Amino acid sequence: MILKALLVGAVIYIVYIMFFKQKNVEKSSTTAKKKEQKPQANEMVECANCGVYVEISESILSSGKYYCSDECIKKAGK
Ligand SMILES: [Zn+2]
Repeated sequence: MILKALLVGAVIYIVYIMFFKQKNVEKSSTTAKKKEQKPQANEMVECANCGVYVEISESILSSGKYYCSDECIKKAGK
């Protein structure tokens, strides 16, 4: 009888651990997705010189304005 109780307890314990782990994975994956969305990697910014839209990660920030290339910074500086 004690062995049976232990077995049932072990099964409940395993199920509980698996469920808990699954919940943790779900939580971490959703937070990871949220983290992916938060950075403005895909945000488009307009070049202050030529008006071309470039990804913010690809753009060059110069004196508070975004530019698509070094050429546009030089042209805007003239
Ligand atoms: Zn430009």
